[in-house]
Amino acid sequence: MNSFSKGFDVVVAALLGADEVGFSTAPLIVMGCTMMRKCHLNTCPVGIATQDPVLRKKFTGQPEHVINYLFMLAEEVRENMAKLGVRTFQELIGRTDLLKVVDAGSPKAKMLNLNLILQNALHMRPGVNIKGGSEKQDFQLEQRLENELIAKAKPVIDGEIKKVDVELKIRNEDRAFGSTLSYYISCKYNEDGLPEDSEINVRLTGSAGQSFCAFLAKGVHVTLEGDANDYVGKGLSGGTIVIYPPKSSPFESHLNVIVGNVCLYGATSGKAYMRGIASERFAVRNSGATAVVEGVGDHGCEYMTGGVVLILGLTGRNFAAGMSGGIAYVWDIDGKFSMKCNPEMVELCKLEDKEDVSLVLTLLKEFRELTGSVVAEQLLSEFDQRRKEFVKVFPYEYQRVLRQKAAEKESATQPQAQETAKIQDIEDAVGDPAVEQRKAERVLDKVRGFMKYPREAAPYRPAEKRMKDWDEVYNFTHVRKGLRVQSARCMDCGVPFCQSNSHGCPLGNIIPKWNFLVFQNQWRQALNHLLQTNNFPEFTGRVCPAPCEAACVLGISEPSVTIKNIECAIIDHAFENGWIVPQVPTSRTDKKVAIVGSGPAGLACAHQLNKAGHTVTVFERNDRVGGLLQYGIPTMKLSKTVVQRRVDLLTAEGITFKTNVNVGKDISAKELSEEYDAVILCTGATWPRDLPLPGRQLNGIHFAMEFLESWQKKQLGANFDGPHAKDKHVIIIGGGDTGCDCIATSLRQGAASITTFEILPKPGPKRSKDNPWPQWPRVFKVDYGHEEVQVRYGSDPRVFSIMTQEFTDDGKGHVSGVKTVNVEWVKDDSGRWQMNQVPGTEKVYKADLVLLAMGFLGPERAIGDQLQLTLDPRSNFETKEYKTNVSNVFAAGDCRRGQSLVVWAISEGRQAARVVDEYLRREVSALPVPGGIIKPSLLQAIPCSV
Ligand SMILES: Cc1cc2nc3c(=O)[nH]c(=O)nc-3n(C[C@H](O)[C@H](O)[C@H](O)COP(=O)(O)OP(=O)(O)OC[C@H]3O[C@@H](n4cnc5c(N)ncnc54)[C@H](O)[C@@H]3O)c2cc1C
Ligand code: SF4
Ligand code: SF4
Repeated sequence: MNSFSKGFDVVVAALLGADEVGFSTAPLIVMGCTMMRKCHLNTCPVGIATQDPVLRKKFTGQPEHVINYLFMLAEEVRENMAKLGVRTFQELIGRTDLLKVVDAGSPKAKMLNLNLILQNALHMRPGVNIKGGSEKQDFQLEQRLENELIAKAKPVIDGEIKKVDVELKIRNEDRAFGSTLSYYISCKYNEDGLPEDSEINVRLTGSAGQSFCAFLAKGVHVTLEGDANDYVGKGLSGGTIVIYPPKSSPFESHLNVIVGNVCLYGATSGKAYMRGIASERFAVRNSGATAVVEGVGDHGCEYMTGGVVLILGLTGRNFAAGMSGGIAYVWDIDGKFSMKCNPEMVELCKLEDKEDVSLVLTLLKEFRELTGSVVAEQLLSEFDQRRKEFVKVFPYEYQRVLRQKAAEKESATQPQAQETAKIQDIEDAVGDPAVEQRKAERVLDKVRGFMKYPREAAPYRPAEKRMKDWDEVYNFTHVRKGLRVQSARCMDCGVPFCQSNSHGCPLGNIIPKWNFLVFQNQWRQALNHLLQTNNFPEFTGRVCPAPCEAACVLGISEPSVTIKNIECAIIDHAFENGWIVPQVPTSRTDKKVAIVGSGPAGLACAHQLNKAGHTVTVFERNDRVGGLLQYGIPTMKLSKTVVQRRVDLLTAEGITFKTNVNVGKDISAKELSEEYDAVILCTGATWPRDLPLPGRQLNGIHFAMEFLESWQKKQLGANFDGPHAKDKHVIIIGGGDTGCDCIATSLRQGAASITTFEILPKPGPKRSKDNPWPQWPRVFKVDYGHEEVQVRYGSDPRVFSIMTQEFTDDGKGHVSGVKTVNVEWVKDDSGRWQMNQVPGTEKVYKADLVLLAMGFLGPERAIGDQLQLTLDPRSNFETKEYKTNVSNVFAAGDCRRGQSLVVWAISEGRQAARVVDEYLRREVSALPVPGGIIKPSLLQAIPCSV
């Protein structure tokens, strides 16, 4: 059983017969492991699997953490045992009668027949002892097949004869065949193996068990007609292994697996020829063996450091990950090898070099001779045409070493060149532009980048400059200059928390992938990955508060990776290069869809449904499309040209926008639901929270959105009659994004003073104990508006732990001040926070303009009333998987989940579109689930939007 973490797992394992359980992953996690899976690189960011003193310092694990965990686990085991009525652990073992198969689970899981696993061992073999630890295991070594081999080979090992030929039949119960023989050889000859003129030839038929020919010594040649299990040739040490299918078998060897997983793991020398496919992790950590095989599974040649591997067929994913040495030649039959290869450390070259060609030909001939391979025969007969289809997988590090050696050799033979041999890096001596390019790529250290490079610290233009204009605050030029350095900080975590949609990116953006591609200057590919999950990175890249960065693993002990800037740069670069063009669907369904509201949720939903071929109309009550992207988020954070650019693209792709149509008023929601096959409500949470205190009716008190929206309309040319902050004392009640946008807008309008009230206490500079990583950090942050006020007026505008009591009148019906009292927060006996007013702290703040920015209560009522929609307890539209209680009406975005973020709105729009598509088609949708993954049963592909 894999990955034990709970007491329940232990109990189930015992019921299935386990008399011993071991833990590794769970205690590691308890000590702080984030499953980054980079142990082999000595870069463990939490200081566990590393000896680097800098990283070791980051280790915060304590023995008590593991002790506590194991106590809790034992307690859970005990609870489960009590439920089963079993008193001792021994009594649990093998009691399969206490297990039953659950009825729940996916349709695929339900197809599993577990009857055989659930059979009781005592029923199958009555009387056997199934209790663990009571009887010593008997390996019956004296009955091993290999004993016969050792006896026959002994005279060769002893030097009495030079050669012996042995023929045997092997079964898969015969494990590690050949290893003990190799042990005897190495006892006498150490790692040299048999002397040159001695040999032990073994011919076998049958199916070999695990670890066949592990550590096989030099001078031993084993030929197996049959197949073998996992770990063939593990640690191969000079011996030769040849495996081919039974000569009488009718199947084609290159389409069938002949050896199991992890073959040639850690092989150091020797040869292995296997006529058929090897399963996963072939030649992992091979450091010197030569192998030929007709195909491999995932992770082939991973971490290989030496040797030669020739693959005459398909490979699985992640080929050559971490491969720093040796060479692999792959016959790329379908031209897709580059997509399956991990390019981090290797270059893919053509098979052109004379020495390479000669080596491949020699190996092909040997392989054909020894195994009778039909594939090798065919390749040899058509080699001139087929040569072009071969790919040479050549690690950069190995290339560097080879060049260095060549240069050393050259300088040794040319004494006059001694002067110039001062060059430290061999690549400096090579004028080849491709090499120069690669060198430039690798001057930066991606593996240890997070230790070497600091986080970009200045994403905004200087405050004193930017507050004088209404342009976007971002310092694009500066950010872009350091982008590759920032991408080099990404650790490419095995479990990238940044992209988990529970704590990290709600869209499941494939962040490590595009970080890596940006590092490699592969912008187009980075764009392709980005657009798989995000319809509008130009919006999120600007306005997203970046939960991904809060969840970034690096953030545990260092400033996290600047993900948002990289995202923004990828899409801006794509627009600048003209890569983003309208993608009109090639075919249309006969379904009509209406979307109400054109904020990010409505736009994302429209984009996805249009891609799926439906005819989409978006209704918007405002005069422009974009929701809060257009009228809400100020131009300093999101230029309206950027919004309009996307709206134009969507229009060109075939989406119809109908502005100035207030659904529920100009057209009834019911009518809409009857006219269209599906209606998706994306109306946002537009009902602002009020502050019904004495004096609320006074002039000069406005909701934040009245202030922001009217000003943004004025900026776009409309007649202006909204509130303005010029020369006024502005009080903003409520923190958050909206409050900050009011600050920055008031400041640019020329306010006399700006103060914001926040009822909660000032957050600390660091996460508190009840707010651990990867949760969103509740810490004190200085946003763009706060910094600008600090620069203009000399102090941060925020006042914390303050409550408004009353608005005072100037005697002419206009607000003149805000009366407040300080509050303190204390925990009551039950641990709940209680707010108490602090007597004697009453104060009146001067105010000419008061802006209420205390959030929103949900969607407005008209549509819900007309359609008789059910609301949830927070007065949002209640849905189940985006479906409301009316069959063809769906909801997404802030109107469904409550006031939220642009990134969530896009995510909601995308997922609602998928559900609507399934509803319309009555079959599984080809639109992706979070993370860009398309359900496997897709019937037709969605065209890529690039
Ligand atoms: C001032 C402000 C600043 C913000 N800043 C950020 C930020 O920096 N980063 C961030 O991530 N989030 C920010 N947010 C939150 C973010 O803007 C919202 O979460 C997001 O826009 C919600 O998207 P939506 O599509 O659900 O709704 P909205 O963007 O609110 O769009 C709803 C649309 O529906 C239209 N509509 C409503 N009713 C009807 C009707 N009956 N008929 C026709 N049309 C109708 C509205 O006019 C509106 O255009 C901010 C919010 C505000 C208010
Ligand atoms: S959309 Fe937001 S959370 Fe997702 S990657 Fe971009 S910045 Fe991070
Ligand atoms: S962005 Fe952070 S969490 Fe994501 S892969 Fe990189 S280092 Fe890991």
